[in-house]
Amino acid sequence: MQIGVPAETMAGETRVAVTPETAKKLVAQGHTVRVQAGAGLAASATDEAYRAAGAEIVDAAGALGCDLVLKVRGPSPEELALMKPGATLVGMLNPFDAEGLQRLASAGLTSFALEAAPRTTRAQSMDVLSSQANIAGYKAVMMAANQYQRLFPMLMTAAGTIKAARVVVLGVGVAGLQAIATAKRLGAVIEASDVRPAVKEQVESLGAKFIDVPYETPEEKEAAEGVGGYARPMPQSWLDRQKAEVAKRVAQADVVISTALIPGRPAPVLITEDMVKSMKPGSVIVDIAAGKGPNGHDGNCPLTEAGKTVHKHGVYIIGETNLPALVAADSSALYARNVLDFLKLICPKDATAVQVPMDDDIVAACLMTQGGEVKRR
Ligand code: NAD
Repeated sequence: MQIGVPAETMAGETRVAVTPETAKKLVAQGHTVRVQAGAGLAASATDEAYRAAGAEIVDAAGALGCDLVLKVRGPSPEELALMKPGATLVGMLNPFDAEGLQRLASAGLTSFALEAAPRTTRAQSMDVLSSQANIAGYKAVMMAANQYQRLFPMLMTAAGTIKAARVVVLGVGVAGLQAIATAKRLGAVIEASDVRPAVKEQVESLGAKFIDVPYETPEEKEAAEGVGGYARPMPQSWLDRQKAEVAKRVAQADVVISTALIPGRPAPVLITEDMVKSMKPGSVIVDIAAGKGPNGHDGNCPLTEAGKTVHKHGVYIIGETNLPALVAADSSALYARNVLDFLKLICPKDATAVQVPMDDDIVAACLMTQGGEVKRR
């Protein structure tokens, strides 16, 4: 089969869906791999490396005109115009973007959004949310450490002692866990909060302290269990108590990393303006939920501005919206392996056409459009 790998065109998107490593494997499986010239450059993959892996270097039309197109982000209207009706697209297509999916359906594409894969053991190797959130959690701490005008570890020097940084992590999914692990490696003292009770043990196993907010009603307990491992909106009574506990920690914190998300809904507001005002001058907030908050530009903090670092009430608030793109080589390496694993389900070795086995729960969950219709379940 002809597999196309276009260069990403979305602003700031540096990742690429196929690396020389995975291109080589696709070629070994009998496929023709057509990579747009320069597609991997921002991720440290040169055209020469793709050629050495057996891929052809083509222009945008050559990559987008293939039977199977592998991308990081959904195509722009210009890219869509270069794709063939009946072709298959695999990428992070945003299953909640109804208009975007309708455009893919109208273009006659069979499309798969990898973010929709279930969080099951079998799907783990193709779980793009996890592979990219892991990198986001790491990079968030790196950015905080860079912005923060003090050190993370406690240092006892001849010139006196420097205190360890206090880090608060809000939302302990994949990104939050990696943020805790990274801050710990740098020597910080860490506290973390999440709605899901299962997280407490994971937080403690990484050497951080869990901010306990006990559930007082059956309704609170049931909401906290979430669905499919994901959080659900919590009752206001619990959120009010969580806010009081978090506010105390945030006032003492040097760095806050917030990652709280609820699929298909605006990110919850966890760091209010009053909490920001209570922080010490020079403290840093990295809001990984930037751009997903109730007003679009914000995140877990209403003062966050997506895509910018702002300085408000003496606190730096980092609203970077694509942290994995700042670590393009490794995020592409993991993403490309996720894609390769997903292809085993729809494009087995020597296949001449894409298959859509709807009895496979991962394929069925990821299928977004087919036969001119939006199929998202
Ligand atoms: P996510 O990005 O959807 O959300 C980040 C975190 O924010 C979650 O832990 C969520 O509980 C938390 N959150 C939401 N509202 C909050 C609030 N008001 N206060 C504090 N925290 C809040 O999460 P994710 O990283 O995609 O992980 C989602 C789930 O999937 C987790 O249970 C994770 O363990 C699970 N998972 C399973 C697998 C697997 O089994 N293959 C792989 C990866 C993740």
